[in-house]
Amino acid sequence: MTTAALSAALPMLALVTLTVLTVAALVAQPWWSEHRRARLWAQPFPAPWRRILRRRVPIVARLPLELQLRLKRLVQVFIAEKPFIGCQGQKITDDIRVTIAAQACLLLLGQARADCYPGLRQILVYPGSFVADRERPLGAGVMQAQRQTMSGESWTSGQVVLSWQDVVAGAADPDDGRNVTLHEFAHQIDQDSGVADGRPWRAGRATRRRWAIVMGQALERLRSEPSALIDAYGASDPAEFFAVVTEVFFERPAELAAEAPAVYDELVALYRVNPMRW
Ligand SMILES: [Zn+2]
Repeated sequence: MTTAALSAALPMLALVTLTVLTVAALVAQPWWSEHRRARLWAQPFPAPWRRILRRRVPIVARLPLELQLRLKRLVQVFIAEKPFIGCQGQKITDDIRVTIAAQACLLLLGQARADCYPGLRQILVYPGSFVADRERPLGAGVMQAQRQTMSGESWTSGQVVLSWQDVVAGAADPDDGRNVTLHEFAHQIDQDSGVADGRPWRAGRATRRRWAIVMGQALERLRSEPSALIDAYGASDPAEFFAVVTEVFFERPAELAAEAPAVYDELVALYRVNPMRW
């Protein structure tokens, strides 16, 4: 090959090499993730993490043993894969990682997959409640800037933002039906299908239709008659309704089943667990 022919062929060669490497990386990545998860699952759950679970997340001790084991495995994957970022000087410790991961993974106990929140990129942790600037629609396309104090937020770009003080308080009482971590991670499950619209992805058109009817009717009922069980904040919109009933489903299951049996059944089918049996 002449020098001129070689220099003409080089960019093509580089392009082919790059394409081959990209395809190889795409093919290898799921395999590598699976391999890493299998290795993590084989590792024993660290004793200090077990003590954090016992102290901070009392709901875990109620789970049947096989679900406790599954939860611990999911926590190991979650902590290995998801970066935690401290905000306003908050230091990130195992106490924070394990307490948040355990509650987040409670929502994944029934899923067949070994991964955790594929769309979630980071967990941002503030020491206490934080202030966020929001825009509120005033009508006729006019928006008003507003400052709000928040205990948690979930963004469609793959971030969950939490106040550590509120995370601890939410986990400490597993029977009050109030839990900011469950709430924000329910939004992440909802956002898995794109926007947060109170319709987490379900297979089957009939299943999706039934979900929409049951949840829509329950939301309308909450709007017309306040409930002592389901927080009025759930009446804001379908996304908040789903996040609020998720908190109640895990923390006051028997009461939810009595007050709104159809909603309870839909949540059993979605999360594939039945907290009333714990
Ligand atoms: Zn919310």
